[in-house]
Amino acid sequence: MTCPRCEGLMVEERLEDLRDDTGQIFFHAWHCIACGEILDPVILSNRQQNPKPIRHGNRNLLVYN
Ligand SMILES: [Zn+2]
Repeated sequence: MTCPRCEGLMVEERLEDLRDDTGQIFFHAWHCIACGEILDPVILSNRQQNPKPIRHGNRNLLVYN
């Protein structure tokens, strides 16, 4: 698998998540050995559903001049 950030080599790793409220502690994810990017099934799913970042979104920012 190729890293979407740097196009480096990604390896599959077994990671531990102590805060997972589903009861699952270990999960498999892809880890880029070049830049450190981590992609797990949740991240991949979210990126497929929302592939582009929200720009000019619904943030309520006030500008003072
Ligand atoms: Zn990378």
